[in-house]
Amino acid sequence: MRGLAWTLAMLLSSTALAQAEQPPYQDADFVKIEKIDTHLHLHGTLPTFVARAAADNFRLLTINVNYGDFPPLSQQHRDALALRASYPDRVAFATTFDAAGSDRPGWAPGVERQLIEALDAGAVAVKVWKDIGMQQRDADGRAVMIDDPRFTPIFRMLEARGTVVLGHLGEPRNAWLPLAEMTVNGDREYFKEHPQYHMAMHGEWPSYEQQIAARDRMLDRHPTLRFVGVHLASLEWSVDRIAGFLNRYPNASVDLAARMSHLQVQASTDRERVRRFFIQFQDRILYATDIACQGPQEDSACAAQADQAWRDDWRFLSSADTLHSAEFAAPFQGLALPRDVIDKVYSGNARRLFPKAWP
Ligand SMILES: [Zn+2]
Repeated sequence: MRGLAWTLAMLLSSTALAQAEQPPYQDADFVKIEKIDTHLHLHGTLPTFVARAAADNFRLLTINVNYGDFPPLSQQHRDALALRASYPDRVAFATTFDAAGSDRPGWAPGVERQLIEALDAGAVAVKVWKDIGMQQRDADGRAVMIDDPRFTPIFRMLEARGTVVLGHLGEPRNAWLPLAEMTVNGDREYFKEHPQYHMAMHGEWPSYEQQIAARDRMLDRHPTLRFVGVHLASLEWSVDRIAGFLNRYPNASVDLAARMSHLQVQASTDRERVRRFFIQFQDRILYATDIACQGPQEDSACAAQADQAWRDDWRFLSSADTLHSAEFAAPFQGLALPRDVIDKVYSGNARRLFPKAWP
């Protein structure tokens, strides 16, 4: 006679089977599933862009950053507050600070006051940027690195508040290679246009591994800091190196911003390795693009560009289609990630990390 144990075993195995056999999401699911782009730079009023995001079921995190191509920080802050006020359930923002003059006495307390003010005004994270390590020098000419003790009080304050730090430190490893040896066209174009960050030509700044090591020493010093290594923690060229970083720092996550092509390069030669990385670290990866929209004059074009990028990425992560990219020559296959992995990468992890961002 078939007893209770047998019935239970059948129930369990059929549940496991149902999960295993659940098909990946389809193209048509793109608009049905809530998604969050956790790394954008939105400046000015962007009604068409935000409407496109809403139609595509995207929520947004715009990140202020002290970058010469963007408006001044005070303007970025005003724009972020205005976007948040106009679309409180759609747009959240991250604040930042100017690292210039960090060797002057009184610099850190001033930055702490300014950050607290921005956090009280609704910022959900603080960005630190590659100018620390690649641009800022003290009056005596020494390069300022992120593990410098002058930043300790700021990180200690953010650690105590539980504020997420978004760290873009260093650059893709391609930045230390000649243009012809870079693995993706996007990097080749960016470093051609921004030679000041093309580190292969700037031996006067610390090396790639020195940038990574300084970031890691800072994290060693702040073990409870909630940290997102944006741009795949500048370890984009190797999912094994990213895995090593995530294993070493349990409070860290990574975002995919502007580095999906680097994962596609790896998928073109070893798709299973990239797929395993997503499944193993499904709780620690945030979907992001790094799309930047500069005011109303770019609103419509930016909306179209984002829609295309969001759909291309969806296809890579959710389907098993054979794909091609303008970034490099080889074809590659979509990862067809399980539905629960897609749900976490696209929204669950961001909602957990930034609980007040999209009420
Ligand atoms: Zn960015």
